[in-house]
Amino acid sequence: MASQKGMLLVVSGPAGVGKGTLVKRLLEEDGSFGFSVSVTTRAPRPGEVDGVHYHFVTEEAYDELLAQDAFLEHAQVHSHRYGTLKSEVFSRMERGESVVLDIDVQGALNVMARFEDCVSVFILPGSFRELRARLEGRGTEQPEEVERRMRNARREVLEQPRYRYTLVNRTGEADAAYASLKAIVEAEKLRSTRFFPEVPED
Ligand code: 5GP
Repeated sequence: MASQKGMLLVVSGPAGVGKGTLVKRLLEEDGSFGFSVSVTTRAPRPGEVDGVHYHFVTEEAYDELLAQDAFLEHAQVHSHRYGTLKSEVFSRMERGESVVLDIDVQGALNVMARFEDCVSVFILPGSFRELRARLEGRGTEQPEEVERRMRNARREVLEQPRYRYTLVNRTGEADAAYASLKAIVEAEKLRSTRFFPEVPED
């Protein structure tokens, strides 16, 4: 009766807020989404697979992609460079599929400026105290790196009003945060502008 247009879902928020976990669960449970695998110059962490979690590239290869205008958006995040490939997003959207981006706040603002129609979601921590505990608990960052991320988080949270939706990911309440994300996604699938009803001739 009607065909439907996919959505570009942008999930963003400060480092350590739990975006990755929420996005992973959405991808596992909702087959209508594909993940846009970003390019990064950082080294893989144990268990990360090239082409699945990221396309891990050298600084030179990254520069080459920049020169080719291959990125939809790109940003320096902490001490590394990250970019969303146009090829990851456009091919899927053209097929009517939905795409989810897990990107930092600068990148998200760039995507929002370019694609007004994107569904932007800001994830807030329960509190700054909770965010700090999570960053420290990950044990992957040195203390000065934790401080840097906390400073960035203060600045990033100021951008929250520019997003279409906001959800709070409180420590120990991941199911509630996921339920909010699902509610956003399900409502957005039903936006009138996503439908193309087929009206038969008389
Ligand atoms: P991590 O190195 O911990 O995987 O990611 C660090 C940060 O970079 C996270 O906030 C993540 O969302 C962000 N990020 C990952 N890929 C991209 C990307 O393609 N563009 C931008 N702007 N940020 C990204």
